Amino acid sequence: MSFDLNSLLRPHIAKLQPYTSARDEYTGKIGVFLDANENPYGSVTDQNFNRYPDPYQSDLKAEIAKIKVVKSSQIFLGNGSDEAIDLLFRAFCNPGKDNVILLPPTYGMYEVSASINDVEIRRVSLTEDFQLKPEKIIAATDENSKIIFVCSPNNPSGNKVKREEIQFLLKNFKGIVVVDEAYIDFNDEPSFTTELDEFPNLLVIQTFSKAWGLASLRLGMAFGSEEIIRILNRIKPPYNISGLTQDTVLAAIRNTKRVEKMIGEILQERDFLEEKLAQMPFIQHIFPSQANFLLVKMPHASDVYNELIEQKIIVRNRSKVLLCDDCLRISVGTRSENEAFLQALENVISKTV
Ligand SMILES: *Cc1c(COP(=O)(O)O)cnc(C)c1O
Repeated sequence: MSFDLNSLLRPHIAKLQPYTSARDEYTGKIGVFLDANENPYGSVTDQNFNRYPDPYQSDLKAEIAKIKVVKSSQIFLGNGSDEAIDLLFRAFCNPGKDNVILLPPTYGMYEVSASINDVEIRRVSLTEDFQLKPEKIIAATDENSKIIFVCSPNNPSGNKVKREEIQFLLKNFKGIVVVDEAYIDFNDEPSFTTELDEFPNLLVIQTFSKAWGLASLRLGMAFGSEEIIRILNRIKPPYNISGLTQDTVLAAIRNTKRVEKMIGEILQERDFLEEKLAQMPFIQHIFPSQANFLLVKMPHASDVYNELIEQKIIVRNRSKVLLCDDCLRISVGTRSENEAFLQALENVISKTV
């Protein structure tokens, strides 16, 4: 299947003249800067934030390129990965005309972004064990289908999606296949970034919000061909990543040992939770997880959820979601948080049954 990025792009985006910031015209670091209407005295805080940050995030991208083994020119950074998702709609999907394919049950932001952008959603549900129906997905596409969103490991089910089936979509769809790898660090397979050279229509999304423990900073990543990345960069707000975020994440990347240690602990705690839940006769099913959460099926899940809230234990109620009847999604916590959850669950169960 031949892939023609230009024919996918919305015509007015192809013609867009991007904003050029003051810092595009002079990129030196030394000088008297009277070009951006900044406050020359500093900030009203202890730390100075008075200068606009690097709109290209060059230093940060150079470090990310090293750890992800891609080129800087293959990286887009967003204010959370949600920004990349939204920009994809704005670049490729003509409102009221084009459509995208979603594979429920999956991450909710694809649908929200589609709706904000007035883009038709075509849904092809996953199988009972949360795998793709590749032929059905391709059959649901037409000439106005621009993007298929695949989430692997999938949220809310936690499983990874079979690699060959994602590759089937990449080979047989002439639009963009997004592989959302928000939970890749908890998974035992290589990232799809290793297949970027093979598939020009692949866009991989990752985030610093989960394994890296930096959700509050809002830093998401998209990896793709230089052509796709160039388009996202042309339409993003120029200063979409704050200086504080750029500096903090740069420092964090130099401390990968800490991340690896935390991931190891989370995986251990996931096993602990799974083992303890499996011993509870009340629990009907624990879905296999390659993420930092477990999807768990039990009778009267909504009642259990409400009772847990009463005890200040907050989990995610997915019991009304397609294929997730009576399921709660539980993020892996620390040992003491997990024990508090398990204890509360025991209490609730003895009350509800
Ligand atoms: C948490 C999550 C994200 C992360 O979004 P950010 O905006 O980067 O915090 C993206 N995709 C999925 C599937 C998620 O669960």
